[in-house]
Amino acid sequence: MPQTEIFAKDFKARPFWWEAHEPKPLAERALPREARVAIVGAGYAGLCAALELNRQKIDCVVLDANEPGFGGSTRNGGMVSGGVNVGKRYLARALSEEESAPLLADAADAFTLIEDLIAREKIDCAWKKDGYFVGAWAKSHYDSLAKKVDLLNRHAQSDAYIVPRERQREEIGSDYYRGGMVIRRAAQLHPALYFKGLLDLCQARGIAILSKTPVTGLTPAGSGWTVTTPRGSLTAGDVIIATNGYTGDVTPQFKRRVVPIGSYIIATEELSPDIARGLSPKNRTIADTRRVLTYYRMSPDGKRLIFGGRAKFGHTDPVETAHILHRFMLDRFPQLAGTRITHAWTGNVAFTLDELPHMGKFENLHFALGCNGSGVSMMSYLGHQTARKIAGRVNSVCAFDRPEFPSHPLYTGSTWFLPLIGRYFRTRDWLDRRFE
Ligand SMILES: Cc1cc2nc3c(=O)[nH]c(=O)nc-3n(C[C@H](O)[C@H](O)[C@H](O)COP(=O)(O)OP(=O)(O)OC[C@H]3O[C@@H](n4cnc5c(N)ncnc54)[C@H](O)[C@@H]3O)c2cc1C
Repeated sequence: MPQTEIFAKDFKARPFWWEAHEPKPLAERALPREARVAIVGAGYAGLCAALELNRQKIDCVVLDANEPGFGGSTRNGGMVSGGVNVGKRYLARALSEEESAPLLADAADAFTLIEDLIAREKIDCAWKKDGYFVGAWAKSHYDSLAKKVDLLNRHAQSDAYIVPRERQREEIGSDYYRGGMVIRRAAQLHPALYFKGLLDLCQARGIAILSKTPVTGLTPAGSGWTVTTPRGSLTAGDVIIATNGYTGDVTPQFKRRVVPIGSYIIATEELSPDIARGLSPKNRTIADTRRVLTYYRMSPDGKRLIFGGRAKFGHTDPVETAHILHRFMLDRFPQLAGTRITHAWTGNVAFTLDELPHMGKFENLHFALGCNGSGVSMMSYLGHQTARKIAGRVNSVCAFDRPEFPSHPLYTGSTWFLPLIGRYFRTRDWLDRRFE
């Protein structure tokens, strides 16, 4: 198929999810002169922090540089995990079981938090707890998954089991992998409708959210902060930085601790029912163990494939990367030859230098940052935990509230080196399969 023919006639270079809820500026409201807490960033983390502060009767304001939900929170794959991706190390040293255990336990709590929140508040976001299949790219990757199953079941309540290659077709309509692992305690949702649910709750509770209000300055003032925006400034007792992959120059201390990486997704046109049903027969969400990761799932109505991955490591045009993702998709599902794409988009995730999510207080600023690619439950949880910490409502320290948030003397926020890492990862993937 010639390259240009992968696009459907009604192709749009924007998230498929925005057909159901597109981030829009909210009704104009005046910037308050003061707030007990100012939250920078209106994604899952910022809004979950605001909801919990409000529940604790602590007055807060949420400021976003763009429309609320502009970031990863309405662009992601909607795959909800509870520990399987925590401590997955691409470059950093592997964690011991002792180090992993508390992180996995809290990641499992993150899953409980989002599951309970959606049920309690009746958020209509196509939540389905149908499990997750991780495909092993090479025999050695399968062996590593087999070793991980017990750890996940012991510490993250994953309800996981290993799937040998002969039984792989029960999980995925593909022979691409060398077997894999199923996590039964995993779910999927419509990411933009989950975000809309949080936004509606905030608005119903009268929480002040200001769109198109970038925070351009943070100056210590007494025991709190003066928060500057182009619309004026406000004073706040505490500030929460919840900017994840969009962390910018106003917080250089965090910009040098998170690496923004583009993640890319395509949505196919509606597939024939037989083909659609066969791709993920149990409606699992799916990802693989390649370092150049792909992740995919069916749309909430089961008619399309939503296929994402790290098509490029630098930041680039989603239309350009759509060709790469389409090729990756056909590698896994040759039966989709001739299928066209209706949507292609991108958004930023934030990697940290130890490849772990972080919350805490640094230079007197609270922060919830570093989803490392999996933030639907995790960033909701870290926002919520940060609010509880401010409210003095925690009995034990969250495992992601770590004493160290590492930086590197050579990294100040410029990402020129990402394509080199991409090349290294591709070579490592190739070697793993070549010499399996
Ligand atoms: C393509 C893609 C696919 C993904 N797939 C999955 C998945 O399947 N499962 C999963 O668990 N996770 C996934 N993720 C990750 C997940 O989307 C994120 O971890 C999560 O949305 C982060 O939420 P957040 O609230 O921390 O940040 P965001 O939602 O990114 O929000 C940050 C906000 O900060 C604002 N901001 C930045 N600077 C300022 C400033 N100076 N002043 C005011 N506001 C500012 C931005 O405008 C933005 O709205 C994916 C991410 C992407 C991009």
